[in-house]
Amino acid sequence: MLIEKSLLKSKIENQVGVLFNKSIDEANEFEIYQGLSKALLETISKNWLETRKKYETGKQAFYFSAEFLMGRALGNNLINLGLDKEVKEILKEIGFDLNSVEATEEDAGLGNGGLGRLAACFMDSLVTLNLPGQGYGIKYKNGIFKQKIVDGFQVETPETWLRYGDVWTICRPCEEVVVEFGDGKVRAVPYDMPVIGYGTKNVNTLRLWEAKAMEELNLKAFNDQDYDEALKDVNAAEDISRILYPNDSTNEGKKLRLKQQYFFTSASLQDIIRKFKKIHGTDFEKLPEFVSIQLNDTHPVIAIPELMRILCDVEGLLWNDAWAIAQKTFAYTNHTILSEALEKWWIGLYEEVVPRIFQITQRIHFQFLDLLEEKFPKDKERRERMSIIQGNLIHMAWLAIYGSFATNGVAALHTDILKHIELKEWYELFPERFLNKTNGITQRRWLLEANPELSKLITELIGDKWITDFSQMKNLEKYVADEKVTDRFLEIKSEKKKQLAQFIEKTQGIKINPDSIFDIQIKRLHEYKRQLLNILHILDLYYRLKENPNMEIHPVTYIFGAKSAPGYMRAKGTIRLINEVAQIINNDPEIKDMIKVVFIENYNVSSAALLFPAADISEQISTAGKEASGTGNMKFMINGALTFGTLDGANVEIVEEAGIENNYIFGLKVEDIEELKKKGYDPHVPYEKTKGLKRVVDALIDGTLNDEGTGLYKELYDSLLKGASWHKPDQYFVLEDFEDFRKTQEKINKDFADRKVWAKKAWINISNGGKFSSDRTIEEYAKEIWKIASQKI
Ligand SMILES: *Cc1c(COP(=O)(O)O)cnc(C)c1O
Repeated sequence: MLIEKSLLKSKIENQVGVLFNKSIDEANEFEIYQGLSKALLETISKNWLETRKKYETGKQAFYFSAEFLMGRALGNNLINLGLDKEVKEILKEIGFDLNSVEATEEDAGLGNGGLGRLAACFMDSLVTLNLPGQGYGIKYKNGIFKQKIVDGFQVETPETWLRYGDVWTICRPCEEVVVEFGDGKVRAVPYDMPVIGYGTKNVNTLRLWEAKAMEELNLKAFNDQDYDEALKDVNAAEDISRILYPNDSTNEGKKLRLKQQYFFTSASLQDIIRKFKKIHGTDFEKLPEFVSIQLNDTHPVIAIPELMRILCDVEGLLWNDAWAIAQKTFAYTNHTILSEALEKWWIGLYEEVVPRIFQITQRIHFQFLDLLEEKFPKDKERRERMSIIQGNLIHMAWLAIYGSFATNGVAALHTDILKHIELKEWYELFPERFLNKTNGITQRRWLLEANPELSKLITELIGDKWITDFSQMKNLEKYVADEKVTDRFLEIKSEKKKQLAQFIEKTQGIKINPDSIFDIQIKRLHEYKRQLLNILHILDLYYRLKENPNMEIHPVTYIFGAKSAPGYMRAKGTIRLINEVAQIINNDPEIKDMIKVVFIENYNVSSAALLFPAADISEQISTAGKEASGTGNMKFMINGALTFGTLDGANVEIVEEAGIENNYIFGLKVEDIEELKKKGYDPHVPYEKTKGLKRVVDALIDGTLNDEGTGLYKELYDSLLKGASWHKPDQYFVLEDFEDFRKTQEKINKDFADRKVWAKKAWINISNGGKFSSDRTIEEYAKEIWKIASQKI
């Protein structure tokens, strides 16, 4: 054991004394949380140090990401350290409940959604596999916003996870660096978060940078009583690490966002190079032998010209030598084919923010044009399509592919679309650079921690190896015909549904029936994810029930959770629509609780941990070809929910593993959409032809529903039937897919009645979830991209 129970207990007492000048019997739950966390940090500190020293001399991978959606740390760390039972007992002895203590921790909400959560799962897998891999990001003071629902509308309020500081994030003042912009310099102050692995002593590091002004205060201005002027530089610097742009579809707040990107990549590279020099001197040719840097989407791609600046301007290397090094150091992950999410910077802004980096980017651009001319002489059109600088825009994805040795997609279908459609010409140019790395999730957080009841059953049946080797899950399959196991599974599912029902009643005041089907769609709100399709179907079901009160259905609870980017009007309109339809249905006595609709406020990692284990149905209904992978789909699967979805992203691989007959696949496929587009798609056809569809679409504008004069519903209506200057009507095929959606929902509703058959399908999904562990994903990155090996202390 890592530490004796009595010793840990006294450490907690000491820490509560040091931090709060209180004895245990005087402390509250939040103070116990802090004292306990500090005691744990003290306990792991030697291992953390040893891990750093062990990694320093060998090859390391660095994961650059603008987002790390870590959630809470304490519960996960206790489980990974194997101390959860002891600490529960200690706290009980001193009069506290571990769950209540854990609940006082605020989520570290440093991410929008899937991309940020992936980075967090990767951190967990890296350390659990003892791999020398560290994260680099930004310590956003206010993270992603907190969502409140007021009159059905989303209202954003600031996230306050750092109000009293964060115990787990520790300042390293001696490793501060300076980052220079066109308009001056700022200090980048590093804070380290320990990343604790399961069943290992290794402790990895997530380093997050905070932006600070060079001078604490303009004292002269202050003495002249010009207080705004006195703090102007301080505020401008601190703005850089103030918030995460709550936006994964378009890029706004452009200048500050570019500053954030340059800020954290420059600081991280300076840090990496300084440490490299300490061990290897100035033998930079060796850099790719010791350093691999993964660029998580385009946000950190500015690191490529920044490394060129450091190598050429600071270290005095020749351009060509530096370029060869850079190309062998970076790898790039593509997360989307939505063109509005592929970042392009306007050259004027880029030059103003980072003038030297602009010059370097230009040189890379011209060098690339030379390469194109050599490979495809006189092919002017190709040159225009592939140019890194196109007109006034710098195309960061193109810069990434050219400036790296590997480009990967995040699911098999997505990588196929990249190779053969979206990045076809890039694949032609650099075929050896393209590879697939299907995303994964950590079973430690999403099964072991989130669903201890199911975890216990699994361990009883197949032992506990699955916790670090998820391929073991396959051994569960032989219990599929075991009635006792089926019953146990159904009991556990029922228990998790009751727990969620309690949470919903407590937090939202809505009573839901735990015996109803829990049909859950939780993910960022975006048109391509088609929450609109889901809610239009619910409204249609409601109307049909009103017309035909004797219609036989199994009761269903539809649960949504989603944040919308603050400026994304259609997404906000959809949230309002879901809440209004919920109001109407939940308060209609004629419906007799046959359907209920719940919108979970402020969907985040902590509420996710309650939702996934309680689901019967996992809604994964994106327009085929648009969801690169999805990871929510995997969390549902391993908790025994059946996927109701399109053949998109990792859904394809989920049904490959678990069988299409054990899930519910509907709707247009990628090829169908291509064909339909060629033929010319007119959404008026399904709108007129599909029974009941016109009624629910018209409800948006005929006075049935009321958006308080905001025009939000008219905007949704127009998006479906009129289109806009930038897109054709119903570009996400909501109306075309409606009929099959409804038919498949009807089948689900009927099938649910046979509880045993349903449970067996769920069990087969659980047994075949092995592939979707982020351990598998990280092993592939480590072997095939980073070339790093396990370094156990
Ligand atoms: C897993 C997860 C996501 C990603 O969900 P998708 O359905 O894959 O988009 C987003 N947010 C949170 C909090 C998550 O845990």
